[in-house]
Amino acid sequence: MEINLVSDTVTKPTQEMLRAMFKAEVGDDVYKQDPTVIELEARVAKMFGMEAALFFPSGTMANQTAIKLHTQPGEQLIADKYAHVYNYEGGGASFNSGVSCCLLNGNRGMISAEQVAGAINDPEFYHSPLTSLVCVENTTNKGGGACYDFEEFKKIRKVCDDNNLKFHLDGARIWNALVATKDNPVAYGKVFHTISVCLSKGLGAPIGSLLLSDKATIHRALRVRKILGGGMRQVGYLAAAGIYALDNNIERLADDHRRAKEIGAVLEKLNWVEKVEPVETNILIFSVQPNINEAVLMEKLKQKNISISSMGHGKLRIVTHLDYREVMHTYVLETLEKL
Ligand SMILES: *Cc1c(COP(=O)(O)O)cnc(C)c1O
Repeated sequence: MEINLVSDTVTKPTQEMLRAMFKAEVGDDVYKQDPTVIELEARVAKMFGMEAALFFPSGTMANQTAIKLHTQPGEQLIADKYAHVYNYEGGGASFNSGVSCCLLNGNRGMISAEQVAGAINDPEFYHSPLTSLVCVENTTNKGGGACYDFEEFKKIRKVCDDNNLKFHLDGARIWNALVATKDNPVAYGKVFHTISVCLSKGLGAPIGSLLLSDKATIHRALRVRKILGGGMRQVGYLAAAGIYALDNNIERLADDHRRAKEIGAVLEKLNWVEKVEPVETNILIFSVQPNINEAVLMEKLKQKNISISSMGHGKLRIVTHLDYREVMHTYVLETLEKL
């Protein structure tokens, strides 16, 4: 029994998901003739109260497209210092869009309207880059799966409107946030100009993300996706996995959240653990006492068939997911207690 708690991207399609994929009706999606992709796009757009959606091969490409749509070279976006768009997209903001990032020191990856307001460059002061976009993440990845209070989004949107900025949500784990907070997804469509969502994280599809917005913006996104090489042909086979995931794998995220919390509760009691960050969803970040070597700890766990990841500086990360089942969970709790 190999237990991989490194990421929620390690899940493999189940037989049922594969069957749904095999049965998909497909067409050439570059000509917008794939009925399964069209169905998925319409469904996700509607779910978030947006006019339109576009299927992407990765969340990175969906985010990078959003940045391209909302900025001109030389401009600046505002994000938390932990933001995926800044840390984990290969420098794409500068490579693809020629923009710099103004990074804020947020709380567990979350920034406030007040911080945003203070970070906007005066548009008349032409010596500084023109601020044009604010990007937030929900849940936060490097911030440990934290969920925003929806009221903060409304406040940030107000600051954006007052300053002529666009507002993008990196919603790679928006499903986890929705399950944990019981927020209404339709409200998200009102507050953001664009939203990216992933099907390949907690939902367990092998590939796929979508970018959501109004019709005109999604029409522009089609060209950017083409330029980035993201136009795919009979991709309905993958969209079918996404539809299956939306039907079957959203509510069960609550199990992932419960298991992460239970692991957190066990870690709290262990004397070699220094601190466990609050667990809100499926990501758990903890630090070990200074006398504990994290590489040795990870190796010990590996010998017991449990893989977790290091974030450096004595911090470690555990992510629960669809393929982490109850039997594995029982074993992990016992193993940690005895370690
Ligand atoms: C995983 C992730 C993405 C997208 O990653 P891809 O691997 O490109 O699909 C974007 N944002 C966050 C916060 C993520 O965790």
